[in-house]
Amino acid sequence: MESTTVVVIGCGVLGLATAEAVSSRGLEVLVLEKETIASGVTGRSVGVVETQYLNEEDIALRARAMEGFARLINDHGLEFTRTGYLRLGRSADDLAAFERSKGVQESYGIGGVEVLEPAEIARVVPDLELAGITGGLWGANDGFVDPHHLCSVLAGSVRRNGGRIWQQAEVVGHESSRPGEHVVMTRRGEIRAEVVVNAAGAEAGRVAAILGQDLEVVAEQHRVLHVRVGAGRAAGLPSVVDYVPGGAMEGFWLRRDTVDTVFSGLHVESRGEEAHEPDDEASFVDRWAARLLKLFPGWDSAELAGSWTGAYPTADGGPIAGPLSDDPTIVTVAGGGGYGLQIAPALGATVADLIA
Ligand SMILES: Cc1cc2nc3c(=O)[nH]c(=O)nc-3n(C[C@H](O)[C@H](O)[C@H](O)COP(=O)(O)OP(=O)(O)OC[C@H]3O[C@@H](n4cnc5c(N)ncnc54)[C@H](O)[C@@H]3O)c2cc1C
Repeated sequence: MESTTVVVIGCGVLGLATAEAVSSRGLEVLVLEKETIASGVTGRSVGVVETQYLNEEDIALRARAMEGFARLINDHGLEFTRTGYLRLGRSADDLAAFERSKGVQESYGIGGVEVLEPAEIARVVPDLELAGITGGLWGANDGFVDPHHLCSVLAGSVRRNGGRIWQQAEVVGHESSRPGEHVVMTRRGEIRAEVVVNAAGAEAGRVAAILGQDLEVVAEQHRVLHVRVGAGRAAGLPSVVDYVPGGAMEGFWLRRDTVDTVFSGLHVESRGEEAHEPDDEASFVDRWAARLLKLFPGWDSAELAGSWTGAYPTADGGPIAGPLSDDPTIVTVAGGGGYGLQIAPALGATVADLIA
């Protein structure tokens, strides 16, 4: 039977970031994936990485994640496209919250954050209609990564650290006589391990049941539109988000793809049964188009080039990085929601600190 110190179940960004952090600390790791690297939710992400949040807990997590991204960029050749990220405000309260966020971000060492006046927004996004906008929270150092490339970089580092990755190795069973002694059954054979990490994304609940634990992860369906906005119109365009966390308004988001195309969508928070089904496409596109044209009235020749849906793996109370039960040798890293990629290096490091 194969053996290792740590088995990580799931080759998405959370499993790989955890395996990378664990193997960097000198521990032996084997990552198990039922399909292929990034075949889950990670491969459907649009890869935005940013810190423009309002509460301290969210900012602290992203500050730690940014340290991880800096290491991946500098030491492992991760390509990070720094577009900047603009969160729009529509009231004086929003601006006050943005000023607080800037102060908190700076206290965590995050640079490049500014609260912009409408005139300054016009410089950053010249095509934007400013009616009703009181200002914006601007992160000059934010941007995006290609999710598949990020996973390749993480997998490369795991392998250089001596770790192994098995694809086509679905976990189907688990036995444990006591904490620290696990046998994990996969379609490629059995593995003896001291620690098991559940990083199975939207299927983390099912894998938790295999590990004898209770976990509910809801697969919230979200739609991404790929849009041709016109020749050169997306050149230099930052990510733009017309939504303030906790606000009542349906959120609009957009991030540059090429100089002519963007990815865009609506931030819909669904709960319960409807969370498993994507919004009806026609009504989604109508609502989205109305928002696009309100913000960018000159983009009236924009055309849909394609679309896809994917699940935000959402756990009650936000992301999880730690044991769910009395057994500290079964650890969960899941519930990344719509921001799991940008916090992955922080969650991976948290789990590695617990294990090492
Ligand atoms: C449309 C969309 C856009 C998004 N945009 C962003 C964004 O811009 N920025 C951001 O930060 N986040 C974004 N997200 C969220 C982000 O993609 C997710 O939070 C993150 O990818 C979750 O990673 P994961 O590793 O938990 O899950 P996954 O990537 O799904 O990985 C879990 C893996 O576990 C494997 N697995 C499951 N069961 C088993 C088993 N029994 N045995 C072995 N393997 C198993 C699966 O095959 C899968 O590969 C977006 C998500 C969607 C859907």
